[in-house]
Amino acid sequence: MDCLFCRIVKGKLASEVVHENEGFLVIKDIHPQAPTHLLVIPKAHYPTLVDCVDEGVLGRMLSTAVEAAKKYGFAESGFRTVINTNREGGQTVFHLHMHILGGEPLSEKMV
Ligand code: 5GP
Ligand code: ZN
Repeated sequence: MDCLFCRIVKGKLASEVVHENEGFLVIKDIHPQAPTHLLVIPKAHYPTLVDCVDEGVLGRMLSTAVEAAKKYGFAESGFRTVINTNREGGQTVFHLHMHILGGEPLSEKMV
């Protein structure tokens, strides 16, 4: 299967990994929309949020985002998590992922 994020998870495509746990990689987004723009990527392939019916994976994706936010020091000051889903949701990479935006006030920011 030719999936960009599966290639990153398998180490076949370079990325800047900033955090990792058993089920997830957290990498820097290649086109950052905020001073810190990270992507929480499940190691297992789910094309979209709609395809992921595993509540454990969904819960751990959120707690992984919190781990990364703590690591970057903006857990308390604030950050934003976003999941774009399917075409009208603006999804461009069809391997489930959660954006983390932080490092400045985000009132005008969209992903
Ligand atoms: P989506 O639009 O699907 O919610 O988000 C996909 C994100 O992946 C975009 O923010 C885009 O900048 C990022 N992205 C696309 N290709 C690459 C890549 O090869 N490496 C990294 N690190 N990020 C990528
Ligand atoms: Zn994939």
